[in-house]
Amino acid sequence: MHELSVAESILDILTENARSSGYQRVKLVRLEIGALACIEPEALRFCFDAVMKDSLADGATLEIARTLGQGWCTPCCRSVVIEALYDACPLCGNPNVKVTAGTAMRVKEVEVE
Ligand SMILES: [Zn+2]
Repeated sequence: MHELSVAESILDILTENARSSGYQRVKLVRLEIGALACIEPEALRFCFDAVMKDSLADGATLEIARTLGQGWCTPCCRSVVIEALYDACPLCGNPNVKVTAGTAMRVKEVEVE
């Protein structure tokens, strides 16, 4: 499952941050997931709890914010909002929208103690 490796990479980030910032426990993790990142928030929550068990973030709350997908439509010569990868341009129907944003996942904020 893809979300499992995502959760593992979050743990890596937290472990790394904990080392450089000197904290012991993570209470809350705020994630930003692009609409085109192909990450299922509910599946990720499930994996998150399992992966964080017995780690520095055991029992931490996971907050997920979704960011919009964006692409560039050449016929329209403008940036458009798209809901999924390979979506056509919502304005002109052009199927070759070049994805420009919304494919990334990042840890936006952590609350620690
Ligand atoms: Zn267009």
